[in-house]
Amino acid sequence: RNTLWWIRSDLRLGDNPALDAALQEAPTLALFIVTPAQWRAHGDAVVKIDFWRRNLLALAAALADRGIPLKFLSVDDWTALPRALARFCRDHDVATVHANVEWAINERRRDTEVAACLEQDQATLTLHQGATLLTPGTVVTGKGECYKVFTPFARACRERLITAPPRPLPLPRAQTRGPRAPRALHGAQTAGADHVRHADRPGHVIEADAVPDEAAFLGRRKPPADKLRDLWPAGEEAAHRRLDAFAADALAAYDTERDRPDRDGTSRLSPYLAAGVLSAGQCLHRALAANHGEIDSGSQGVRTWITELLWREFYQHLLAAHPALSMHRPMRPETDAVPWRDAAGDLEAWRAGRTGFPIVDAAMRQLAATGWMHNRLRMVVAMFLSKNLLIDWRAGEAWFMENLIDGDLAANNGGWQWSASTGADAVPYFRIFNPESQSRKFDPQGQFLRTWLPELAPLDARAIHAPASEQRRRLGYPEPLCDLKETRLRALEAYGNLRGPA
Ligand code: FAD
Repeated sequence: RNTLWWIRSDLRLGDNPALDAALQEAPTLALFIVTPAQWRAHGDAVVKIDFWRRNLLALAAALADRGIPLKFLSVDDWTALPRALARFCRDHDVATVHANVEWAINERRRDTEVAACLEQDQATLTLHQGATLLTPGTVVTGKGECYKVFTPFARACRERLITAPPRPLPLPRAQTRGPRAPRALHGAQTAGADHVRHADRPGHVIEADAVPDEAAFLGRRKPPADKLRDLWPAGEEAAHRRLDAFAADALAAYDTERDRPDRDGTSRLSPYLAAGVLSAGQCLHRALAANHGEIDSGSQGVRTWITELLWREFYQHLLAAHPALSMHRPMRPETDAVPWRDAAGDLEAWRAGRTGFPIVDAAMRQLAATGWMHNRLRMVVAMFLSKNLLIDWRAGEAWFMENLIDGDLAANNGGWQWSASTGADAVPYFRIFNPESQSRKFDPQGQFLRTWLPELAPLDARAIHAPASEQRRRLGYPEPLCDLKETRLRALEAYGNLRGPA
């Protein structure tokens, strides 16, 4: 019987344990399941779904070169998925489905149902660890619990990784024997890519041999502009080129440049890591190669970058250990009593980049135009929303998810809960970034501001961070949405009044 690699958020051939296991077992075919209604329900961004599709086009070519057929099923959402997949396995004589684990709760429920459905046909689902450096649940405190604080977690990871550094799996070779031909298809309608649009009929399953068209992925939503797509070229080769260029040009200075949104000091690999076009192991391996294999000594730039990879790891492990994080719950339940303001106008101004605080507005416009935002600015805008505007962090989390090309439940939720001081390893609630001082410190010449707020371009480096009223009027830039001092005090009071250890 055949074996199946079920592709999810692991859009790569290299260092892919699920694909590797499938190929070792039997003639392999690959499958991706298009579930537009599910993606809408999860609030996945159009730019991200489009990125998946573009990466699938690259993957289809690479798989064809290796004699591995790539199939597509289109179903509406995950309620229809288990039966559709079980039928596909029957039709294609598949005995084992291999996939890399996904830790969010809906994903885990989906996999449990898939496994149960397959079992009825004497087929199995085998999950592999392809998403993280270390298996969630294996990096634990002395009491056997998941760490809630980053620093000891990172220390424990480093100890493990020093003794057993990752050895990324190589690209697979072509398979010599292709999978057995499918049985006569029944139930599922076969279609060329151009017919896949019928998949939006609930309960309808469509099978295709080519990457379905944009409408099958995005429904009626408008695809991103070519200019945006050009920022994020698809495919493993493009991802590795970016990793190599970063390692050669910027990694050594990462520790000093990483907080500067006006510089190109970070890797911009997050979309590739989130979609699994690159693995964390490949990134770590590349970083170690640039540092004579050292994790804890040598280049400070490399060590700091590895710490960022471990933040990613930390949030994945937390998500695996705490299903509540997938359900919009704060890590600190007492913070649910914060009297969040119902302020639709303020939220809209924040989303649209019209708050009158240049660094916040420039960051929000960077997000809209590129699908990405610099990490320092993610913290600035998240604290501004949840603390100065006292708007529920979940509104910001959802907006990020709807707009980020690297939107990832674990990192996004972790970043928002950290910024809003509701998380496991939260910044203390009394720490509230002042957007103006952050702007002066991390974009001293106002170069980043001028890129995203051309209306402020005439202002000099001193004025641009907080223009005077007269300058705002003249340049058509809004007055500040709130008073930073007053709103800071309001937040301190709101958080300070909470019962329990906020
Ligand atoms: P680099 O600085 O080059 O770091 C390398 C990689 O490490 C990143 O690509 C990313 O995978 C990981 N990483 C770095 N910093 C963090 C971090 N703080 N937490 C988790 N992983 C990290 N990252 C996402 O990938 N998806 C998100 O949806 C996301 N939402 C965020 C929301 C908020 C409010 C905050 C504060 C942070 C969020 N981050 C998210 C983390 C971080 O901002 C991005 O990973 C980073 O900006 C991506 O840029 P880069 O690839 O150049 O990162």
